[in-house]
Amino acid sequence: MEFSSKLIEKAVGEISQLPGIGKRTALRLVLHLLKQPKEQTAFLSQALLAMREDIKFCESCHNISDTKVCEICANDNRNHRTICVVEDIRDVMAIENTGQYKGIYHVLGGKISPIEGVGPSQLMIFSLVEKVKAGKVDEIIFALSSTMEGDTTNFYIYKQIADKDIIISTIARGISVGDELEYADEITLGRSILHRIPFEKTFKNN
Ligand SMILES: [Zn+2]
Repeated sequence: MEFSSKLIEKAVGEISQLPGIGKRTALRLVLHLLKQPKEQTAFLSQALLAMREDIKFCESCHNISDTKVCEICANDNRNHRTICVVEDIRDVMAIENTGQYKGIYHVLGGKISPIEGVGPSQLMIFSLVEKVKAGKVDEIIFALSSTMEGDTTNFYIYKQIADKDIIISTIARGISVGDELEYADEITLGRSILHRIPFEKTFKNN
């Protein structure tokens, strides 16, 4: 793509680094911003900078948070002894939108994936196992997507806590294999949390 302006070229270059945005789309966005009042671009830049600068991770569940402890973990009306294990903030948002879950979360920050070079030590698994060992948990609910990586991750965690006296369950799947949680509709996802099944059932008998 030939640019008649270095400034436009630079902006397009940066924006097209984002996933799913090619040079053409980036150019369209840049030209759109140029047509808007200057403040619009300032608001956008400031929002991005502040997000990057001030964002924190909850020291308890590791979810992205504006505060040291996230709103969910800080809420005394939630059941702190039921922990739903998810991959990232999108899953937390999807499950929260169902309005069916009153426990808390544990955000792993990804899934075990040898292909992508993600091992257990890069995920927030240790602190989850520690919570279980410390007797702070009655139930663990696995809610990772049912891909091979999700299953591997569930099983890895399961092996470390299977001998503890807690309930280990997984969300029931009206969701077909390989679907990501965030794409499941709220009613299906809500039901799959309410009708969760013992985790052992998912790998025994087959
Ligand atoms: Zn939290």
